[in-house]
Amino acid sequence: MQKFISQQNLGHLLDKLIADGKRVVAPRMEAGTPLYGPFADSAGIVLGQLPRRSAKETFFPVCEDIMSYGKEGQQVTLTDVNPARFPETVLVGVRPCDAAAVPVLDAVFSWDYQDEFFLERRQKTTIVGLACTQADDACFCTAVGLSPADPKGSDLFLTPVEGGGYACETFTEKGETLVNSHKELFGEPSGAPALPLAEPQTEKFDLKKVKAWLDDHFEDPAWDSIAVRCVGCGACAFLCPACHCFDIVDEGTEKAGKRRKSWDACGFWKFTHHASGHNPRDLQPKRYRNRIMHKFKYYDDKFGQTLCTGCGRCIRFCPVGIDIAAIVSEISKK
Ligand code: SF4
Ligand code: SF4
Repeated sequence: MQKFISQQNLGHLLDKLIADGKRVVAPRMEAGTPLYGPFADSAGIVLGQLPRRSAKETFFPVCEDIMSYGKEGQQVTLTDVNPARFPETVLVGVRPCDAAAVPVLDAVFSWDYQDEFFLERRQKTTIVGLACTQADDACFCTAVGLSPADPKGSDLFLTPVEGGGYACETFTEKGETLVNSHKELFGEPSGAPALPLAEPQTEKFDLKKVKAWLDDHFEDPAWDSIAVRCVGCGACAFLCPACHCFDIVDEGTEKAGKRRKSWDACGFWKFTHHASGHNPRDLQPKRYRNRIMHKFKYYDDKFGQTLCTGCGRCIRFCPVGIDIAAIVSEISKK
């Protein structure tokens, strides 16, 4: 279904959704930084910049309680967190590099174990994607086969058009329901041309060649030079829309406490630290090798796709300037 929505009506749509009790998450400024977050009304939405952190937190929070326990004498009480309480959500203004990561996360959270915390939020969330008109030097979505107008992962996709407003296209039943429930705010397609799209400059990678090299070079001296500067801060994994490793820890005393699920990162030295004291990834190059292997080989082996959407966040914010696009480009030329 193709429609048009004006800038003003997009604001009305968000206000109506909030008034109807939906949780609306969209990019807004927080202390000068664009971030996805929940809105109390549509004022303050910022659609012109890529948010600093990805949209994955909508489905997969940094840290969440999954159970609590208490002990009174010999009586032990376990209380599960019920995912049914998660609210209906509309996630608005999602860049193609963030939206495309959501089906990537779907695959892993519904594979051998159905992660009800992720899946319940996912099922209750409608994603409104937004075509991207601004790229910086770190963006490389086109190099991994996506584009600034790729609707992958979006239920409804908005493209800014000349003269203001957005061309709208629905891609799923959720997108159609959103439009049909607020018909008065959508018009017929205006026919206005789309604003010029962003043009990331990185040359397209030959992902088959990258994978072929990784298949044969688990041991290679190149890993030492690739990862020599990595300080294991984990920023790349935390900012990435597709990274999804987590840890489960119990916090509390013998009397009471909580079981919590928290993000983890393969760059951390403790990531594979065994209780025996042995760590199979005892040095940083082995940990960074895992990051590249997971994104461009292991995930592909398992799910037939790449675990990187080219958002560029890990390049922009790596404290020592490690550039994953340059590394993958170099591998593709070996
Ligand atoms: S952000 Fe940079 S320094 Fe930090 S773990 Fe990632 S690659 Fe290493
Ligand atoms: S690996 Fe880097 S560029 Fe690729 S999706 Fe993750 S943060 Fe973005």
